[in-house]
Order: sequence, then C-alpha cells, then structure tokens
Amino acid sequence: MVGAGIVGASIAWHLVSAGARVTIVAAGGAGGVATPATFAWINASWGNPETYFRLRSRSMREWTRLAAELPAVGLSWCGGLCSDLPPADLEAYAAQHAAWGYDIRLVDRAEALRIEPALAGPPALAAYAAGEGVVEPGTAVAALVGDAVARGATLLGGTTVRRLATLGGRVTGIETDGGTIAADEVVLAAGVAVPALAAGAGVDVAITAAPGLLVHSKPHPRLLNGLVLAEAAHLRQAADGRIVAGADFTGTDPGEDPGATARELFARAKAMLAGADRLEFDHFTIGLRPTPFDGFPIVGRPQDLQGLYLSVMHSGMTLAPAVGVFASQELLTGRRDPLIDPYGPDRARL
Ligand SMILES: Cc1cc2nc3c(=O)[nH]c(=O)nc-3n(C[C@H](O)[C@H](O)[C@H](O)COP(=O)(O)OP(=O)(O)OC[C@H]3O[C@@H](n4cnc5c(N)ncnc54)[C@H](O)[C@@H]3O)c2cc1C
Repeated sequence: MVGAGIVGASIAWHLVSAGARVTIVAAGGAGGVATPATFAWINASWGNPETYFRLRSRSMREWTRLAAELPAVGLSWCGGLCSDLPPADLEAYAAQHAAWGYDIRLVDRAEALRIEPALAGPPALAAYAAGEGVVEPGTAVAALVGDAVARGATLLGGTTVRRLATLGGRVTGIETDGGTIAADEVVLAAGVAVPALAAGAGVDVAITAAPGLLVHSKPHPRLLNGLVLAEAAHLRQAADGRIVAGADFTGTDPGEDPGATARELFARAKAMLAGADRLEFDHFTIGLRPTPFDGFPIVGRPQDLQGLYLSVMHSGMTLAPAVGVFASQELLTGRRDPLIDPYGPDRARL
C-alpha cells in the first residue's frame, strides 16, 4: 500500500481485516497529505448523477458499519443544512434526492434556526439532510492505521517511493531510498502523487490538483450542531471546538495572498454566527485536491499491467469505506463490485 491518507488507510485496514499481508508505505507518517487539509463532509449531496449518488450513499452506510467495527474512527452523523442554491434548485435537489431515498427535507427559517440556533442569519429555505456527517480526518486515519498494524500490517512511515519496480509487464514491487520492496500487488493510494508514480510503469492517470484553503478558529464552546452549507461559506465545528470554514467545502482559492484570503474568509464565517464574538482565528490550511479528469474516482487495475491497483479520488472522506471494501474484495477475489465498476482507470476520457 503506497499512501496512508484516508484512502490508503481504509484499503489497508480492509485488506488486513480480510486476512491479507499488508505493508503500508508513506512518505510522511500516517495521516496523508490532502486528508489533514480536508473539510471532511460525508455526503451524497446535490450535483451528481444517480450512479455516483448510489456509490456515495453506499459509502455512507459503510461508514456506519466501519464505525461499529472500529468506534475510534470517531464518526458523527451530525446532519447538513444546505442553503447554497437558489430556492427552485433547492426544491429540485430535495425532491430528486428524496425520490432516490436520501434522508432529506426542506426546512423554513424557523426550523433552520431550531437545527442551528447559532446562525445569525438563518436561511429562509434550506434542505436538511440529517444523515450527513463528518469524521475528524486525523482521528479516523490514526484509528484505521493503528488497528491495521495491531492486526498485523507493517507501517513504513518516512519512506518515499521513487518508482514502481516492473518486470515483463508486471509491477513487482516498489523502489525506495532504502531499497526495493517486493509485493504481489502494489496499491497506489498516494493522492496527487499517483500520476507520477503510475507514469513510471507506463500508466497514464489524469487528475488535477487544485488548491483549497480552509480556515480554522481556536477552539470555542459549541456553536454548531452539524454542517452548515450556506452561500457565504461552508462551516462545521470540529470535535475539538474549532470552527472550520471554506468558501465551500472544497476550499477557497488561496489567491496571491493566502493569509489575506484566510482573514477575509474567517471574518465572513464569524459573521454567520451569533454569540461568536470571542471566536478567534487560529490558522489556515491549503490542500491539493486529487481530482480525476471527470470528477469521479479512479479505482481499479489498469489494463495490460498485472500487480498494480490504483485508487485516487476527490471525496475520499466520503468514499474511503466503500473503496476499502470494494478494492480489498477485488484484490483478493477478483470480483469487481458493480457500484465501483464505472470508475476503472481505463474509462474513456471526456
Ligand atoms: C480543501 C479540501 C476539502 C475537501 N473536502 C472534502 C469533503 O468535504 N468531503 C470529502 O469526501 N472529500 C473532501 N476532500 C477530498 C478528500 O480530502 C480527499 O479525496 C482525500 O483526503 C484523499 O485522500 P488520499 O488518501 O487519497 O490522499 P492523501 O491524503 O493526499 O494521502 C496521500 C498519501 O500518499 C503518500 N505518498 C505520496 N507520494 C508518495 C511517495 N512517492 N512515496 C510514499 N508515499 C507517498 C503520502 O505520504 C500520503 O500518506 C477535500 C479535499 C480538500 C483538499
């Protein structure tokens, strides 16, 4: 396993739980690169075709299953209050997703305020999805990797993979500064580093890596119950009391002066909250978002190359448990789940 962000951690955990021998190799320690800079909203929200909605919904159920097996991942189904669409679009979104079986309903201003009493300007209309949630990324990865190691996995932190080792059309392992490590299967869950590593074995992986800035307050007594997805900003309050905010959940474009961008965003987020006079800015993060060319995950074996499995995606916080189940199943039994099948590495480019 190359990578110990949320995606690599989940696949490794599911592989070990299914009885595989796993070595997790990560340039940093356990935690990832995009993962610590994420908004961490677990959802099957608007803007996606039904097939992808089904995959995301399944992964939400897999989060519940995973948290029952490993409570230390720290899952919270805190609900999401969405008002960042015009009213007609909110109504269409709620109607479509309710018909698809999503736990969603429209709420008026009074109900929005009952759900989030600290909102200074509650929306006149919002879509409330009670079944959306979060995990704190560091906590979830530490739990998955820690338990994988307890179950027999080896963690090689601080180990950079320079290239894939190949022999006769097969990936046979990885080459690191410390030497070559042989493997029956190499799983690349290295986030934005996947294309460069895959290219070394002749595999073309097309992703973008746009930066997303989020601001974090100092810890504050509880203001928010769940996720607030408003036009002015997307907010949530982390388990340690920090308000985390972005222009939207994918993060703000940092611009030429990220510090100024962060201060302006923080002021906007603070103004959304009543009773937050003492809320203080703490820091900002900028994460590169590993986003495949068409926005959907890339999960599976590239054609014509044995021994390699790719797993790179945006929405990794949402998708990690389902991808963990499906990837481990495919690696160990060869069975590819229909829900992940459309997202193979060799699908046609747009
Ligand atoms: C601002 C922002 C907001 C987001 N919001 C959401 C959200 O609300 N909901 C959601 O579902 N998703 C969200 N995402 C996306 C989500 O966070 C990512 O899809 C996910 O974190 C990717 O995890 P990963 O494990 O694939 O990669 P990463 O966390 O980037 O981990 C990559 C791993 O690979 C290792 N690695 C890389 N290169 C090498 C090498 N050469 N040798 C050894 N190891 C290597 C790294 O050390 C690391 O362990 C957001 C992302 C960002 C940046």
